[in-house]
Amino acid sequence: MSQRKVLVLCIDAGGHDYLEASDIPNIRKLAEAGFYKHAHTVIPSVTNVNNVSIATGTFPETHGITTNYHVDRLTGKGEFVEDNRFLLAPTLFERAKTAGFAKKTALLVTKKKLLRMLAGGTDIAIAAEDPPAEYVAEIGPVEEIYSSEINWWLLRALRKVLREHDPELAYCSTTDWVQHKYAPDEAPSRQHMAELDRIIGEIVADEPEREIYITADHGMLPKVSALDPGRWLTEHGIPSSAIPIIKDRYVAHHGNLGGAAYVFLKHHADLSKAIETLRGAPAVDEVYASDEAASQFGLHLDRIGDIFVLADRNTVFGELTATEAPVAIRSHGSRYESDVPVIGYNSPWSADDFAYNLDVGRLFLQSIT
Ligand SMILES: [Zn+2]
Repeated sequence: MSQRKVLVLCIDAGGHDYLEASDIPNIRKLAEAGFYKHAHTVIPSVTNVNNVSIATGTFPETHGITTNYHVDRLTGKGEFVEDNRFLLAPTLFERAKTAGFAKKTALLVTKKKLLRMLAGGTDIAIAAEDPPAEYVAEIGPVEEIYSSEINWWLLRALRKVLREHDPELAYCSTTDWVQHKYAPDEAPSRQHMAELDRIIGEIVADEPEREIYITADHGMLPKVSALDPGRWLTEHGIPSSAIPIIKDRYVAHHGNLGGAAYVFLKHHADLSKAIETLRGAPAVDEVYASDEAASQFGLHLDRIGDIFVLADRNTVFGELTATEAPVAIRSHGSRYESDVPVIGYNSPWSADDFAYNLDVGRLFLQSIT
C-alpha cells in the first residue's frame, strides 16, 4: 500500500452559504465522491480558536487558545495572541513526526500570525503575507492582505509545495476579508470561491489519491447592532470591561466587532449580579460564568475572563464609545456562525464520524498513534 498523504484546507469563513452561492464544480466533485457534513465549530466561532483546534485536534481547554486577545488576570495587561507562547498542545505536524507518519510537513496560511502560532513541527511554513522570494518569482507578486488575490496566491503556493515537496501532511488556511466585505451571492465573493475551486481542481488532478478535507473556522453573517457588555454592566453599577474575542490588528476585516466576548469584573464578588444584569441586556443570547463556559464549550478556564457572553444573530460586541450603536458589517464569533462544512475525499472515515471541524485533526491523530 502506498503512503497515505493528507491535505487539510480551512477556507476562512467558508460557510455553507458561501459554497452554495458559488460555482465550485471541483469542490462539489470531492463531496460527491466522498462526503459533505454539517459540523460545529468551536465556540467562540473565531479564526484563531478554530484553526488551532483543527491543527491540534483538540478543544481550547487542551490547546489554550481561547481568543485573539489575551488578558493576564494578575496584571490586567492585554496583548494580541500572535505566536505560540500561549499554545499548550503539540501541533498535528509535531505529532505526525513523533508518530513516524510524516517525513515532511507543510503549513501554508495567509496571515503571518497564524504561521507563528502553528509552525511547530513543520518543514515548510509559508505565509502569503510574507512570501518567500522563490515563490514570488514563480507564482507572481502577492496582493495586499485586504484582497481576494492573496488567498488565490496561497493556493497556488500550496500546489507548488505539494508538487515539489510531496509532504505527507499539509495544512492550508486562507483569510476572510472577502466574506467580511461581501455576502455569499455578491460577485467578488462568488469570484473568490470560484478561483479557489479552480486551483483545488488542479491540486486534485495533480495527485488524485491524496486524502483531502475542506472545512471552515466559522461562518459569516450581517450585523446591524453593537453592544459593549462592559459599559452595560458599568452603567448598571458593576465596574467591568469586555474584550470582544475577535479583537486583532486586522481592523479592516471586522472593526473588532464580533459575536462573543469575555467579561472581566473589577470585583469578582459581583459575579451573580453581573450575570443577572447581562441576561437583561439587549441582544445578549447566552451568559455563562467562566466555569460553566469552560465545561460547556471546552474552553480553558484561566483564559476566558469571569463571564462569557454570546450575542444574538444580528448583534456584535465591541469596545464602544457608547453602550449601544447601530452598525452595518459582516462578522462572526457567535453560535450563529458555528455551522460549517466538513468535506472529506479519499477519507477512511464517513460523515457520521465528524461532529466538529476539529475532528479532522482529532481523527487523523487517532489514526496515526
Ligand atoms: Zn476566520
